[in-house]
Amino acid sequence: MAEQKTSGRRLRQPIVVVLGHVDHGKTTLLDKIRGTTVAAKEPGLITQHVGASFVPASVIEKLAEPLKKIIPFKLIIPGLLFIDTPGHELFANLRRRGGSVADFAILVVDINEGFQPQTYESIEILRQRRVPFVVAANKIDKIPGWRANPDTPFLISLQKQAQRVREELERRLWDNIISKLYELGFQADRFDRIRDFTRTVAVIPISAKTGEGIAELLAVLAGLTQRYLQHRLRFAEGPAKGVILEIREQPGLGTAADVVIYDGVLRKGDIIVTGGLNGPVITHVRALLMPKPLQEIRVAKRELEPVEEVYAAAGVRIVAPGLEEAIAGAPVFVARDEGEAKQLAEKVRREIEALRIKTEAEGVIVKADTLGSLEAMIEALRKRDIPIRYADVGPVAKRDVIEAVASRELNKFYGVILAFNVKVLPEAEEEAKKHGITIFTNNVIYRLLEDFEKWYKEQVEAERRKELEKLVRPGKIRLLPGYVFRRSNPAIVGVEVLGGVIKPGYPLMREDGKRIGTIHQIQDKGKVIHEARAGMAVAISIRGHVMVGRHIDEGDVLYTDIPEQHAVLWLTKFKSELTDDEMVVLKEIIKIKRKQNPAYAVVLGKPQGAKP
Ligand code: GDP
Repeated sequence: MAEQKTSGRRLRQPIVVVLGHVDHGKTTLLDKIRGTTVAAKEPGLITQHVGASFVPASVIEKLAEPLKKIIPFKLIIPGLLFIDTPGHELFANLRRRGGSVADFAILVVDINEGFQPQTYESIEILRQRRVPFVVAANKIDKIPGWRANPDTPFLISLQKQAQRVREELERRLWDNIISKLYELGFQADRFDRIRDFTRTVAVIPISAKTGEGIAELLAVLAGLTQRYLQHRLRFAEGPAKGVILEIREQPGLGTAADVVIYDGVLRKGDIIVTGGLNGPVITHVRALLMPKPLQEIRVAKRELEPVEEVYAAAGVRIVAPGLEEAIAGAPVFVARDEGEAKQLAEKVRREIEALRIKTEAEGVIVKADTLGSLEAMIEALRKRDIPIRYADVGPVAKRDVIEAVASRELNKFYGVILAFNVKVLPEAEEEAKKHGITIFTNNVIYRLLEDFEKWYKEQVEAERRKELEKLVRPGKIRLLPGYVFRRSNPAIVGVEVLGGVIKPGYPLMREDGKRIGTIHQIQDKGKVIHEARAGMAVAISIRGHVMVGRHIDEGDVLYTDIPEQHAVLWLTKFKSELTDDEMVVLKEIIKIKRKQNPAYAVVLGKPQGAKP
């Protein structure tokens, strides 16, 4: 492979990722870039990598040829290496201590739809990992009246558009993209109007479908990376450094790791150190596999062939014993000898240890398939202020359920397991069933969190309802003259509800605060009912030591006898649950109660137990 063999290279090719909202055209753009490269027919230079595609500098220069007058530049980087799979999840695995293996990103935004949830998420992730980016304002061919000029640079195609169409493009560019970037604190502009690229995000209008603007996109990427990222791209002839993107079964060869090498040289037979489920893995490279050079890219079926060495930046499949233990997102380092391997293993161990969470505190249990997704889950939970008790890579095992049970003891709403893209082992499932532990599983992070948050809200609401149901509500009734059906044991009388509500089980008191028994049953026209509200006339039976004529009389007014703790809750946490007439009655009850106990239901300062 021509681009691999040059030794004494000064700069390696930048690693570029594509992010953006679903359906905004990430996959189409990557296909277009690959197709453009193939169409440029550079024999021997069209190389595929494992999980990535290389676009040589000569292709970029050729595409940018018509723009020479507008953007003059000479490339000193060998080209650009595009990671083939777009989106958050793979990007998360391109992790590197404190940052990313990706040198640059393209944020794809549909110019017609503008910013969407995953657009914002992408920017958030790029900010966290400190990856610079340009914006590809995609689907310009959908602007009404746009006349497509396939595979033409944007600036040339633009000259051929009607004035009205050009104005519409500007309007959408500003309203849907540039102003949104400003809202997020980024200065941004159309790429050809930018003077200082270190302060301004470049926006490049393109159509991934027609190929318009692809020339500028590649030219701007190449120009920016070689100008501003030279320190990162300086190539070391030394031992390779990389990260595992994916672990795969390689038929006949056992487990292999798809790795992105971002520095140095990797050779067959090298000692490599990486991170595993049960600690660091030290092994020897048995084989390095790369796709065969192709003149035409048929993405579906790319045959791999063994190579002796690869130079950064590269996507390569490594076959080595012990890789079945390795985790995606773990660093890969080449060691010169066994001694250095041990040191590197310690470094890897510490790096992975720093990503795990093991506490005795209340919080959810998190399991994820890769280090990248674990890190992303932890970040997402922290942003939502959801505490984490335990977080690790691997399938959900019995001990995770035991952790969840322990967490539930401290806070019943956090005794759950959030499993991202991992299996639940059968004994864990059994244990969870036994203890009633909920395991949430999903392979989209935000859906997993949404599911949990929905459940959490329901649990909190159910708990609130349950607590509310137990409280005695304010109620005020009057014994109707001429409706005494039975004087005692139990007393049965006709009453009118003057305010609030009465229910069976409620204790009653007189206007002077004297308790006179408990409501046993309520009947309305001979039918048993569960409550009676203001304005209703019903018959009630009263249990307890009460006799009509002695303790109470026709025409008397009675109130529900609200325990002090209930009254406090009505005044604080559940204030919004009372109707206006219930509130009026509550105040009358408190007045009566305070005659006996002046401190009854006095709420000081901040309401206790108010909503969190
Ligand atoms: P992804 O989810 O971001 O990878 O989006 P895709 O690449 O799958 O594109 C989503 C849809 O938009 C597909 O139907 C594409 O054909 C279409 N699409 C992508 N880019 C363009 C474009 O520039 N113009 C038009 N008209 N359609 C596009």
